[in-house]
Amino acid sequence: MLNPTPERIRQLQSQAQALEPGADERRALLDAVARHAELFWEQFSEQPTFYHPPDIGKGLYEAPIGEEPDDLARTLSLLLEQVDRSGLNTTSGGYMGYIPGGGLYHAALGDFLAAISNRYVGIYFGSPGAVRMENMLIRWLAQEVGYPDTMAGVFTSGGSMANLVGIVTAREAHGLRARDVERAPVYLSAQTHHSVRKALRLAGLGECPVRYVPLDDGYRMRADALDQAIRADEAAGLRPWLVIATAGATDTGAVDPLADIAEIARRHGLWLHVDGAYGAAFALTSAGKKILRGLEASDSFVMDPHKGLFLPYGSGAILVREGQRLRQAHTYEAHYMQDAQGDFDEMSPADLSPELSRHFRGLRLWLPLKLVGVAPFRAALEEKMLLARYFYQRLQEVPGFELGPYPDLSLVTFRYRPARGDVNEFNRRLVQTIQQDGRIFLSSTMLDGRFTIRLVVLHYRTHLDTIEQALTILRETAYKLERGE
Ligand SMILES: *Cc1c(COP(=O)(O)O)cnc(C)c1O
Repeated sequence: MLNPTPERIRQLQSQAQALEPGADERRALLDAVARHAELFWEQFSEQPTFYHPPDIGKGLYEAPIGEEPDDLARTLSLLLEQVDRSGLNTTSGGYMGYIPGGGLYHAALGDFLAAISNRYVGIYFGSPGAVRMENMLIRWLAQEVGYPDTMAGVFTSGGSMANLVGIVTAREAHGLRARDVERAPVYLSAQTHHSVRKALRLAGLGECPVRYVPLDDGYRMRADALDQAIRADEAAGLRPWLVIATAGATDTGAVDPLADIAEIARRHGLWLHVDGAYGAAFALTSAGKKILRGLEASDSFVMDPHKGLFLPYGSGAILVREGQRLRQAHTYEAHYMQDAQGDFDEMSPADLSPELSRHFRGLRLWLPLKLVGVAPFRAALEEKMLLARYFYQRLQEVPGFELGPYPDLSLVTFRYRPARGDVNEFNRRLVQTIQQDGRIFLSSTMLDGRFTIRLVVLHYRTHLDTIEQALTILRETAYKLERGE
């Protein structure tokens, strides 16, 4: 029975007191956490890029959550041993698999401060400062890519969620109803990221006919073929409505011809959504801006600050050229929120995405931008583009290696051609041997039935010496395997 006597209430208060550490305890906790972070920073950034013993993490099951507190040092060492070093070492410059992330130190401090103040960033009323900070950062991104002032955008958990928000916005802007879906084709390419198909399905658009527009020999969507496909569908009485182009394909790094695609989309009245989760951040460099020309003419685009701006995971962004479209697709009202509604001149994140309460993501971007400035970001991104080109040129000189297209951004595809034996099987062994060696991490894909290795330069710690090392490891490992060692 819940009997609300003052004695019982005070007793519970004192039992819950541990939730609120005092000043001395806070200092001790912070010192211990800072030492832990330092240990991690010094030791593990140079640890293997891949560490996957079968039992790692199981120690957590043997240290169950209990009613009583556990020891601080033991708890942190559990974290270090069971979690911090397991799997892919995404804090290492040698990590060049998939699309590398980052994890800037300044951003981690931003996360800490965001959790300390715990400002409510869903709605302007909840924290005008936090909402204005996020809106200001979105505006900064918009200016970097050349979007107009009419735009609006929101920070999401990542590119998948950002693609979903963009596609839902397009659906609403086109007034597409459930009964129209089977007659409303969508244009993608074989290089479109799978999160786009997932988003279409989640948005109730899984039954839209999907047209895979043919690619050129650099794996870019062919604008002329897109035009033809749209015309054919129009002639057949269908209702083309959405084209999704890619600015930096995950498999190949290819950037679709965005300006041509934008022109075609406009002519036929289609919404152009650009998935730039990997590539859009290169708009911060002048070389990248040229390659991404046409991004500014899209109706919406995605970028992932947890890729190209080196932030910790949980940072995506969606920007929509006509901001009202984004808002119309996501805004709702609730009676219990009546105090929070009003005629504010700032848009609230909750009116621009599926989320209501959310992490104050902006602070992890704002703090590094304020404390180091934009110039080092531009330099790092240009360095990545140059490193990929350098790698491409150098690997071309190594006998036996066969390269894919010259990189648009910072991703190189290649494979080794052994004198005899199955080429796919050889490359599978090559990539596995390199992963197990652990000095660098590369991943692979299938391109036109060919097992292909990918090297992606996107970590802020990947530098010239990393690339030299990668070249040495590739040459030595391939020759060793070929000799049957
Ligand atoms: C990484 C990526 C995504 C998915 O983004 P998440 O942040 O992992 O959800 C979508 N599209 C492209 C091109 C990507 O590289």
